[in-house]
Amino acid sequence: MLSYRHAFHAGNHADVLKHYVQIQLLQYLNQKDTAYSYIDTHSGAGVYALDGGYASKNAEYETGIAPLWDRTDLPASLAEYMKLIKEMNPSGKMRYYPGSPYCADKVSREQDRLRLFELHPADAKILADNFRKVEAHALAQGERPTVRGKRVLITKADGFQSLKALLPPPSRRALVLIDPPYEDKMDYRKVKDTLADALVRFPSGMYAVWYPVLQRMESRQFADKLKQLPSSDWLHVTLTVNTPSPDGFGLHSSGMFILNPPYTLEPMLREVMPYLVKVLGRDDGAKFVLETGKGGQKNTGTRRV
Ligand code: SAM
Repeated sequence: MLSYRHAFHAGNHADVLKHYVQIQLLQYLNQKDTAYSYIDTHSGAGVYALDGGYASKNAEYETGIAPLWDRTDLPASLAEYMKLIKEMNPSGKMRYYPGSPYCADKVSREQDRLRLFELHPADAKILADNFRKVEAHALAQGERPTVRGKRVLITKADGFQSLKALLPPPSRRALVLIDPPYEDKMDYRKVKDTLADALVRFPSGMYAVWYPVLQRMESRQFADKLKQLPSSDWLHVTLTVNTPSPDGFGLHSSGMFILNPPYTLEPMLREVMPYLVKVLGRDDGAKFVLETGKGGQKNTGTRRV
C-alpha cells in the first residue's frame, strides 16, 4: 500500500537535516574528478511547490526551511544548501523546495550518474516530468543535458530490490540515499537488510539513511541495529526541534545514519547542529545528538561528539 506522499512534509526540519547532509556528502565526492553514482532508492517527486497543493496543507516547511530563509548568519556549509534552494526560487519568494533527486542533480557533475527509484506511480511520473522541465530550463540556459545523455535514469520500481543490481558501481564510487516512508514498520527491517547486502557487494560505498525518531520500538532500536553492520565507520546525527507532545502527534525528531562517512562531515555537523537547534528549536526539548563509531561492534566504540 502506497499512501505516503512526501509533498505533505516538504521543507520541514527533517528535510533540512537530510538534504543538508546529502549535499555535504556529494560535495565530498566532488573533490575527486572520477565519476560517481548517486543512487536514490526512494526518490519522491523531486521538486515540491510550497505555496499550494499538499505542502501548504500543514505548512510543515514552517518548522524547517522557512525560519532559515532570511537568516544572514548561516554557517558557511548551511549557506551553500540555502543557495541551492534560493537559486530555484529566483523571484526571492519561497515557492519551491527541492527533493533529494533535485539536490543531487544540482551538486553532481556531468560525468556522474543519477539512478532514481520511486514506486508510487503518481510521484514517479511527477519526478520524470520535473526532470524534463529541469532539463528544458538547463538547455535554454546553455547548461548540460540531464535526462538526455543517460546522466539521469528514473525507474518506477522498488528501490530496496533495485539497489542490488547497481552495486558495485563501475567507478567504485557511490552515494546511496535510503529514505523510505517508514509508515510500514517493515521498512526498518528492509533498510537494515538492504544495507547488509549492499555492504557485501560494495563495502566501501557511502550509504546515508534517513529515519524518523518515534516512540515505536523499531525506531528506538534502529540506530543501534545499524551500528552493528560491518561498515568501517559510521556517523549518527539526530535533530530534535521540540519536546514530544503527549499524544505523540507530529514529527519532533529525525536522524541521519551514514555508513562510511567522509572525515569532513563530523566537524561540519559540530558547527551546524547547534545553529539548527537554536534557529529551528521550538521549546526546551530542542537538541541534537552526534555520535560516531566503528561498524560491527556491539554496544562499544561509540563516541558522542
Ligand atoms: N528522498 C525524497 C526526498 O528527500 O526528497 C523523499 C522520499 S519519501 C520520504 C519516500 C518515497 O518512497 C515516497 O515517495 C514513496 O512513494 C516512495 N516509496 C515507498 N516505497 C518504495 C519502494 N519500495 N521503492 C521505491 N520507492 C518507494
